[in-house]
Amino acid sequence: MSEPERLMVRARGVTKRFGAIPVLRGVDLDVRPGEVTCVIGPSGSGKSTLLRCLNHLEKIDGGEIEIDGRLLGYRRRKGRLYELKESAIARRRAEIGMVFQSFNLFPHLTVLDNLVEAPIAVRGRSRAEAERTAADLLAKVGLSGREHAYPRQLSGGQQQRIAIARALAVDPKLLLFDEPTSALDPELVGEVLAVMRELAAGGMTMVVVTHEMSFAREVADTVVFFDGGEVVEHGPPERVLGSPEHARTRAFLSRVQVQP
Ligand code: ADP
Ligand code: MG
Repeated sequence: MSEPERLMVRARGVTKRFGAIPVLRGVDLDVRPGEVTCVIGPSGSGKSTLLRCLNHLEKIDGGEIEIDGRLLGYRRRKGRLYELKESAIARRRAEIGMVFQSFNLFPHLTVLDNLVEAPIAVRGRSRAEAERTAADLLAKVGLSGREHAYPRQLSGGQQQRIAIARALAVDPKLLLFDEPTSALDPELVGEVLAVMRELAAGGMTMVVVTHEMSFAREVADTVVFFDGGEVVEHGPPERVLGSPEHARTRAFLSRVQVQP
C-alpha cells in the first residue's frame, strides 16, 4: 500500500449554518504543501466563512477539517470529537496566518510592535529575537526602515504588506488571504500581489480568496469556484478559468472578466 499523501488542508463534508441559513453545504477541499489555491466566487457564497472555519475562527456544524494531518480545534477519542481548550486552539491557530481585506493592524502600535506582538505572546520568543525576525520580514515585503511608523502613516498597500509580514512572523505552515487587495486603490494592488507572488515562489502554502483573475491564472496551482456554499468545480487554472465545465462558473467568469 502506498503512503497516504500529505495534505496541508483536508476538509471533508464541512457544513456551517448561521441560524437557519446554511452557508457551507458540505465542502471538500485538499491543499497540498507548497501549493497555492485560489478560491473565486460571487459575493455572499461563503468564501470568507470557509476561510474562518479553516483557522477555527468559526466552529463548523458538520464534517471535519485537518491542518497538516491533525484535526483543528478538536481531538478525537474513541471515535468522538472533543473541542480543545482555548489555549490549545490558540497554539494551533498560530500555525495558520490570516490576511484580511481590511489589513487589521493594531492602529495604536508601531509597525515593529505589530510585528513582534504575536511571536512574543504566542511563540514565546524574546523581544530581541522577534525584532530580528521583524527586520527580515520588513525587507521581504520591501518596507525596511519603517519599523517606527504607525499604520495610519502608511498607504493601504504598505499596510497590507505589513499585515502579510505580521502573518509570517509566527512562521505559519499555511497562509489564508481573504480578498487581500479588494480594499486597495487600483494603483496599490500590484505591490501586494507582487509580495504574494514571491511567497508562492518561495513555497508557502496559500489559500487565497480573490477577484484578481490574472493572479489566479498565473500563480494558482488550483482554482476553486465556490457558489452557494459549495465547491462547484476545481482544477488547474487553465481549465477552470479557460474552459469551465459548469454553467455557473461560466456565468460568473463572464461577469468578472472580459475574456475567458
Ligand atoms: P463571501 O465571503 O463569499 O462574500 P460570506 O462567507 O461572508 O461570503 O457570507 C456567506 C453568507 O453568510 C452571507 O449570506 C452572509 O450574510 C452570511 N454570514 C456571514 N457571516 C455571518 C454571521 N456571523 N452571522 C450571520 N450570517 C453570516
Ligand atoms: Mg468574503
